[in-house]
Amino acid sequence: MTLVVDGLGKDYPTRSGPLVVLREISLTLRPGDALAIMGPSGSGKSTLLHILGTLDSPTRGRVTLQGVDPFALSHRELATFRNRHIGFVFQDHHLLPQCNVLENVLVPTLVSDRAPADNERRARLLLERVGLAQRLEHRPAELSGGERQRVALARALILQPLLVLADEPTGNLDADNAATVADLLWELHCQENNILIVVTHSWEVARRFPRQAELRQGTLHDVSYAPKNIP
Ligand code: ADP
Ligand code: MG
Repeated sequence: MTLVVDGLGKDYPTRSGPLVVLREISLTLRPGDALAIMGPSGSGKSTLLHILGTLDSPTRGRVTLQGVDPFALSHRELATFRNRHIGFVFQDHHLLPQCNVLENVLVPTLVSDRAPADNERRARLLLERVGLAQRLEHRPAELSGGERQRVALARALILQPLLVLADEPTGNLDADNAATVADLLWELHCQENNILIVVTHSWEVARRFPRQAELRQGTLHDVSYAPKNIP
């Protein structure tokens, strides 16, 4: 039940030769572990999250989740694996505008084999936990930015994924809403006992998690800021 990243590297081909974005990333995370990743723009944070989320493949190294190497799976097996084990929260909520809140949270269940009644019960429970029990029938356009991102959290968790990946989940929110969403990410992680990786620019967000690392020159460096350094 672990995420093991071993010697992961990623190059992008360019006209002037390969651009090394990720040089050497090694990491082991278990259920209940949470990691905040910071780093300058362009340092490869999204690239890393995309690879861990199996949306992109590595150039070097190995990733296994629960002992499975997702990149060895067929296209169809990989889609099932990703749906079942990985939840994503992006900077933009990516909610379907024509669907209401409850329907949006249920989208990942459309290709799952769990009983619809169980899915709906869990969707309602998650929406209650993120404070949206009174908004089930609202469409995304009828929600605030913070509320939309809280729907996206519930959607990411609906199938109880082992691995939750959040890429700048508070990047579009004001400070108060960012704090609420970051707190909820942390609370839900504790309740669900998943592996959580949050990429953020904000130390306010990162400091809520037990471990922080910085991505620099293609490698992860553990950082722990002394309280005096907190702005
Ligand atoms: P971050 O999320 O930390 O801002 P990214 O992972 O998005 O950084 O990008 C890291 C670097 O990789 C950037 O320099 C970017 O220009 C480059 N890059 C990202 N995607 C591609 C691609 N598909 N082809 C070539 N270069 C890319
Ligand atoms: Mg990014």
